[in-house]
Amino acid sequence: MTEPATSVTAPSTEHRDDASRDVFTDALNRLRRIARSAHISPEVIEALSRPSATLVATLPLRRDDGSTEYFTGVRCRYNDALGPTKGGVRFHPNVSVSEVQALALWMTLKCAVVGIPFGGGKGGVIVNPRELSRMELERLSRAYIRAMADFIGPERDIPAPDVYTDARIMGWMADEYQAIRRAKSPAVITGKPLSLGGSLGRDEATGRGAYLVLREMARKRRMKPSDTRVAIQGFGNAGYHVATLLQGDGYRIVAVSDSRGAIYRPEGLDIDSVARVKKETGEVRGVHLSGDSYEFVDHQRISNDELLELDVDILLPAALESVIGPWNAERIQAPIIAELANGPIDNEADVILDEAGKLILPDILVNAGGVTVSYFEWVQNRNGFAWPLEKVRAQLEETMTSAFERVWELGTREEISMRSAAYILALQRIGGAIDADGTREYFQTPN
Ligand code: NAD
Repeated sequence: MTEPATSVTAPSTEHRDDASRDVFTDALNRLRRIARSAHISPEVIEALSRPSATLVATLPLRRDDGSTEYFTGVRCRYNDALGPTKGGVRFHPNVSVSEVQALALWMTLKCAVVGIPFGGGKGGVIVNPRELSRMELERLSRAYIRAMADFIGPERDIPAPDVYTDARIMGWMADEYQAIRRAKSPAVITGKPLSLGGSLGRDEATGRGAYLVLREMARKRRMKPSDTRVAIQGFGNAGYHVATLLQGDGYRIVAVSDSRGAIYRPEGLDIDSVARVKKETGEVRGVHLSGDSYEFVDHQRISNDELLELDVDILLPAALESVIGPWNAERIQAPIIAELANGPIDNEADVILDEAGKLILPDILVNAGGVTVSYFEWVQNRNGFAWPLEKVRAQLEETMTSAFERVWELGTREEISMRSAAYILALQRIGGAIDADGTREYFQTPN
């Protein structure tokens, strides 16, 4: 939650008004389409076609003026074949049960792709956090945990940060859980402040994971960073960190955006300056810092929709889901799209972009760095031992590059999309656990 803005707007694209575009239904359609083409066992698809449990709760919030307002909180444990469920909590006005379930399904697949022993979960509160005071935000975060305390747990379901939630909120949530349990239990939530058992490197992990995937892809394709133009939609936790790391390698970051709009500069933006000024003013601006002052550099202000359609080499959607659909897929110019956000490309657009020959690096691989370091945090909490940053980074690199290699190898060998390859690897892993757990062989073996 890096943006101190006062308003949160929904994406303006027309699909948001189309009730037939239900994000969970869309996620299931994609799962079935890929699974059918890869001859995945129908039992696995059946097992993954519904969430294990979803809790919807009313959260009463005492406002600072003494009045009480009611909010809706959701938590979904989707599938725990590979381990306790794991997934972020989102505070956003567009949160819905469907969205939470779609995100929880993708978490299930994501943990399987990178091979960490977690299932998938997700949560959210339907709220515009910018309209709450700091004290109200704390009370709402605590109310969420009071409602979910019996549904989550370090061996059951482990929340983490997501859109418009951060380490401070995770700290309040962990504290509330421990007060209810009357015991220290830091492993119940990840993404906590360091002083409460958080892990070094968690903050940057999602962006760093994406950077590692892009670095490996660029090596395969022999791309030269200084010739590569990158546009990033969403300049929050994930978007900011990947931008910094890519710029460090010489990539040209030509456009970034937040919920209020985008800036575009074909010669490249100075990411450190943009980030510093955004922190102070709440806006992305085309600026260059020298000392304590900054000057504006030549740039254009464009819309978020225009950013997606820019002539760049790599497009990184890093904000919300379903920003690329059949309404704009044909206008996307970037030959490479790396999904840093969860589900930014819908199922129909996926097919259109595939047919247009785009390389899509899928969310369940690209943004898996966050949950990977969340897993490291959970391991550290359970061992009561903190890892140095170098160890976190080295283990993250090992996890991300080997997951990338497996996906790339399968994709190129079978001549299928990287998304299909990632889904197949995940489904095989989850299928293996379901089979090993089950009794199918016993029933099918004649005695
Ligand atoms: P964040 O709250 O830090 O940042 C979100 C950014 O998106 C902000 O800059 C915000 O202004 C921008 N934004 C919001 N609405 C927008 C809109 N309509 N158009 C353009 N920009 C908009 O969130 P984050 O943690 O960076 O998450 C971003 C994406 O990455 C989400 O899809 C999230 O699920 C995914 N993700 C995050 C993590 C993590 O560890 N934080 C892990 C995996 C995936």
